[in-house]
Amino acid sequence: MKIFLIFLLNSSKSPVLAAWLSFLIPGGGQFYTKNYLKGILIGGFQGYLIYDFKRIYDLKKEGKIDREEYERKILSNGIIYLMSLIYSVSDAYVSAHFYNFSKDTILNLSLKKEEKMDRTEKILKDLTEASGVSGFEEEFREVIKKEFEKLADDILYDKLGSIIAIKKGEKEGPRIGFFAHMDEIGLMVKGFSKGYVKFAPIGGWWSATLIGQRVKIKNEKGEFYGVIGATPPHILKKEEAQKLPEIDDLYIDFGVEEKKFDPQKKLGIKIGDPIVPVSEFKILGNKNIYMAKAFDDRVGCALLIRTLEEIKNKKIPGTAYFVATVQEEVGLRGATTSPWVFEPDIGIALDVSLTEDTPGAKVETEAKLGNGVGIVSLDFTMIAHRKLRDFLIKICEKYKIKYHLVTVTRGGYDTGKVHLFKEGVPSCIIGIPSRYVHGFNSMIHRKDFDNALNLCVNFLKEFDEKKLKEITSY
Ligand code: ZN
Repeated sequence: MKIFLIFLLNSSKSPVLAAWLSFLIPGGGQFYTKNYLKGILIGGFQGYLIYDFKRIYDLKKEGKIDREEYERKILSNGIIYLMSLIYSVSDAYVSAHFYNFSKDTILNLSLKKEEKMDRTEKILKDLTEASGVSGFEEEFREVIKKEFEKLADDILYDKLGSIIAIKKGEKEGPRIGFFAHMDEIGLMVKGFSKGYVKFAPIGGWWSATLIGQRVKIKNEKGEFYGVIGATPPHILKKEEAQKLPEIDDLYIDFGVEEKKFDPQKKLGIKIGDPIVPVSEFKILGNKNIYMAKAFDDRVGCALLIRTLEEIKNKKIPGTAYFVATVQEEVGLRGATTSPWVFEPDIGIALDVSLTEDTPGAKVETEAKLGNGVGIVSLDFTMIAHRKLRDFLIKICEKYKIKYHLVTVTRGGYDTGKVHLFKEGVPSCIIGIPSRYVHGFNSMIHRKDFDNALNLCVNFLKEFDEKKLKEITSY
């Protein structure tokens, strides 16, 4: 089929010229667009019609047909010629035109694959590719808001911009809060140096992951791309070249040209503007593994949407609140404010857990891509609520959900704040194992995502008032 399409659309020419050629020379446009077979057929047919005009004229001249028959023959021949001309001209135009964008559509395999993406893949692509540096979550919030609006019974906000989708259950309680943060780590314009943009990190960056990466900035003037640069090693002193540069030494080049193009003036870049990492969502050769920026924590946000989708028409005992928080990466700020909106009875963070399955990992642990959903027992800001954690494990075992236990000793989760709300909110973390977190290309495993989804859905089906009482009685 594809070979046939290539043959049919085999050209990369000007559509207007192709149409003109077909108008002037029988089959000319088809030859021009390299459709030789069609050129011969159309050219031959039109050539025959032209010859036929002469033949009819000769018949009349020799007196073999009368005037009436002559006019009839000329008219019918003329109509056929006109129709073939219309066909030939439009065919030449369409062939040339279609091929020009068929390179990006019909003939492009990666786009074909994209069309075949399933719901989860599509959501992960949309969520990871949207921009939303901490404090600048607008673009991302619009994406998740659209999804929530299709699924939720109601939508609430806190005053910093966190968004909360509600799925009503049989009773008002227990109020179960699922928390995933919508912000991603990024950069902010700090100043300028000879046209180059100096920046401050927003969230935790390691300079090694920044150098040479693409970033973009969006403002009233448009969307502009740049690259993070560092002084190249061959002009550094030997001992300097052996060390990693400090983040302060890096800069962004938005296409500086001395005295001719100063991005600050030409592109309207201002101090305080957010700078977003650029990275496309990709499904790797191993179809189970996805690569993108900001899986931390767009994968959690995708879980919010997918869980809501799965339980939309199902009965659950309590009420579920799906919270996409702001500003987690800079200090769990949306997680501090959003619990005031609905006063959760329990809190569960949906976020990435870190894998230790790459060369150089010091400890042998269960934290591996493809090893199921991670149940986090400890992070820098919280110790998981023992009874709630054990209940999560029980659900995994009951529903045969693949899981593993992990600790995350550096960094924290939204629940770090949630569990300290008011008189305390028993909290836990469901982790999706991820490689290369806080980089431009992190990785997750599809089956881990599906296991986490399964856990969230079944947890909601099982967690009722009785269970809440049980885990909060001491
Ligand atoms: Zn996170």
